[in-house]
Amino acid sequence: MVFLESHADVADTMRLILESTGEGICGVDTRGHCTFVNRAAARLLGVEPPDLVGRNLHRLTHHSRPDGSPFPEEECPVFRTAAEGVSSRLESELFWRPDGTSFPVQYSSYPILDGGVNKGAVLAFSDISERRRMEDELRAANVKLTAHVADLERRNHEANLLNEMADMLQSCFTAEEAQAVIAASIEKLFPTESGALCMLNERNLVEAIAAWGRPRGGEEIFAPEDCWALRRGQAHVVSELRQELRCAHVAAGDAPYLCVPMMARGAAMGVLHVMVSRNTPVSRCVEEMEPLAKTVAEHLGLAMANFNLRQTLRIQSIRDPLTGLFNRRYMEETINREIPRATRYQRPLGIILFDIDHFKHFNDSFGHPAGDTVLSTLGEFVRGHVRSEDIPCRYGGEEIVLILPDAPLEVTLARAEVIRTGVSELHLDYRGKPLGDLAISLGVAVFPRHGATGDTLLRAADEALYRAKAGGRNRVELATVPE
Ligand code: GH3
Ligand code: MG
Ligand code: MG
Repeated sequence: MVFLESHADVADTMRLILESTGEGICGVDTRGHCTFVNRAAARLLGVEPPDLVGRNLHRLTHHSRPDGSPFPEEECPVFRTAAEGVSSRLESELFWRPDGTSFPVQYSSYPILDGGVNKGAVLAFSDISERRRMEDELRAANVKLTAHVADLERRNHEANLLNEMADMLQSCFTAEEAQAVIAASIEKLFPTESGALCMLNERNLVEAIAAWGRPRGGEEIFAPEDCWALRRGQAHVVSELRQELRCAHVAAGDAPYLCVPMMARGAAMGVLHVMVSRNTPVSRCVEEMEPLAKTVAEHLGLAMANFNLRQTLRIQSIRDPLTGLFNRRYMEETINREIPRATRYQRPLGIILFDIDHFKHFNDSFGHPAGDTVLSTLGEFVRGHVRSEDIPCRYGGEEIVLILPDAPLEVTLARAEVIRTGVSELHLDYRGKPLGDLAISLGVAVFPRHGATGDTLLRAADEALYRAKAGGRNRVELATVPE
């Protein structure tokens, strides 16, 4: 700290300090009249210093509350500091210049005391418009950022749900499983709305395969022409803003909705239909729901095409194309799965192995394609005469195996007989030409009586079939119990 030599030096130095600061500084006496003013204060107030000195500062440059209402002179903080010796520090008020313009101000006022007597006040103030502007900008940027983060979080959540759905669809084996996965996923993606996923079926009708939310009304099965989205191959949005034509499949009324076509490899597969809740703001419907519905429809289209392809490949891998029956590989897998299960639950399992009698004759007399027709007719007959839990398989050329889980000996024998009779009553023709009667010989074996493994059971049934052939064909023979 440096101590000054004389009062004159002190005064000079103080003046220098006052003039060099960017803050406006004024002195007022107890009546509020300006006693001194620095250049910054004059500049901020838009006056020349001599115009201020001796004038009532409050009246000349009155300041107001943030709402614009003026302070009465006796309540003016500067005036009170000057009159009562109470210092104050305030912000968020406006200072008004004599020319009628104003600026937001931050100011402090300190009493001038001389030997304990109140002589006036010193007022230090600065224009905080720039800080305010930056604060406002920062506030706006924060609001924007928060909205952006919320938007990102929402998108992230949606992307996660879509990925999860795609993952789960990869693991679905049946259409029912896939539909359940889709319904659960869309419900999470559009939790406040309701709707349905409608797919084109093999009859070229659009069918709701998964639905969520409130009952929608409208059609469960409809023609593609009843949907504007499918007709035009693009999203159809009916909102309060866009009152377009309503699709014929949608319930009558004025509720907003979206229909987004699902495309895969350029072809329409179906339509995602979202009924927008009355509580959903129009802006959300257009800004969020429509893009989301488009993304979901795109994902679903690809996922469903993928699923259908896998289903086709799977069916191709386990089905024999000529008879529509399961193939031998699948039969072996099944028997190796079913026998341990039958052992575990101590349940029986029936096997019927049968072979067409004199099948060669069909080929020789009518040609190979006619023989194929006989096989496919027989396949269709067998598929129509088994329970859903039975497994009919093409074992080889014209030999067929039926695996009947849970079927005891008597039931298996009776089923073999029903099949034999049914086959003998089949009418066969090829290109309008009758092919004559069909007969089969059958061998029956039952777990655990005739064998403890798939191999031994099949061998036992084969041996019985051989006896049926040897015994004159067109008959059922039961396997013998091993020694
Ligand atoms: P059996 O009463 O002793 O069983 O006489 P079969 O003529 O039925 O028996 P065989 O084993 O002599 O002949 C079976 C024939 O089935 C021989 C084979 O060419 C024919 N075959 C096997 N698979 C097919 C097929 O997919 N299509 C056609 N058309 N014929 C087939
Ligand atoms: Mg045969
Ligand atoms: Mg044969």
